[in-house]
Amino acid sequence: EAKRKGKANYEVFASHMDVHALERLKLEADLRRAIERGEFRVHYQPKLALDGFERRPEAEPPLLPPRIVGMEALVRWEHPEDGLIPPARFVPLAEETGLIVPMGRWVLEEACRRAVEWQALRPSEPPLTMSVNLSARQFEDPGLVEDVARILRETGLDPRHLTVEITESVSMKDARSAVGTLRELKSLGVCLAIDDFGTGYSSLAYLHRFPADFLKIDRSFVGGLGEGPEEKGLVPGVVGLAHTLGMKAIAEGVETAEQLARLREMGCDLAQGFYFSRPLPGEAIPALLSEYASGPRA
Ligand code: C2E
Ligand code: MG
Ligand code: MG
Ligand code: MG
Repeated sequence: EAKRKGKANYEVFASHMDVHALERLKLEADLRRAIERGEFRVHYQPKLALDGFERRPEAEPPLLPPRIVGMEALVRWEHPEDGLIPPARFVPLAEETGLIVPMGRWVLEEACRRAVEWQALRPSEPPLTMSVNLSARQFEDPGLVEDVARILRETGLDPRHLTVEITESVSMKDARSAVGTLRELKSLGVCLAIDDFGTGYSSLAYLHRFPADFLKIDRSFVGGLGEGPEEKGLVPGVVGLAHTLGMKAIAEGVETAEQLARLREMGCDLAQGFYFSRPLPGEAIPALLSEYASGPRA
């Protein structure tokens, strides 16, 4: 009986695997065509400066309204049949197949072009910055630094206005060569952010050798603000760590006014999240910028 059941289970499992393998093959073929057909889209989520961005936390708190100082580029795939697909469903396969390299190049170019366009909309304000995510596979590509340099040249974006976001796991995988690539990017003038901080295994020794400018606190910690005392204690700790290492702290995934209030109290420099705006298609950004310029929220 157990044996029969085992066999039946195996068959179910096997046919499930076939479906899986087939779906994967189709996805891979679609993904290859997506590049040629131009089916990728970039959405943009604003990064807002809190008081801490310009003031030390111990200074008097006049609590300036948060203002947009940058954007993060987030890729989507507009599949002809399945509609808009989020990166979690195709970035891993794009990494495995190496397709992430040409896709990432396209995202970078698109984002830099937009940054220049939007900077021109607010000539009297500090230039808007653009952040682009790079995954491990892109980071290992020997042509990366050259591609970044070329795209900056071609789009005319000042390298200081570009930030590259990498996760802890990317930076720790082969820390020595990662530090080398990061230094090359830094020497172009590009800024660096460590993304999803707190979800990986950074050693403090490496963290402090990393030439990063921003530490992005993972949204799982930000979501805990306003709950138990332990959760409350972690975020100020990470903000303090960022400042000790000479970096600015960015809170990801801010969804409520209460979370924002806590973050401001603890001197967090920047914030991002649905509370301010979801990621939006590029066409919607000029309106968002003027909305914030004329009557700031929060
Ligand atoms: P990430 O870089 O950590 O981006 C933040 C993710 O959190 C985004 O998901 C964003 O839409 C989402 N998010 C922002 N604010 C909130 C909030 O208040 N609440 C909640 N629940 N979520 C929020 P998205 O766009 O699905 O991207 C997921 C991940 O895919 C990114 O995480 C990044 O690692 C990767 N990714 C996105 N675009 C690219 C790209 O162009 N290249 C590469 N290599 N990876 C990318
Ligand atoms: Mg990111
Ligand atoms: Mg992140
Ligand atoms: Mg994250």
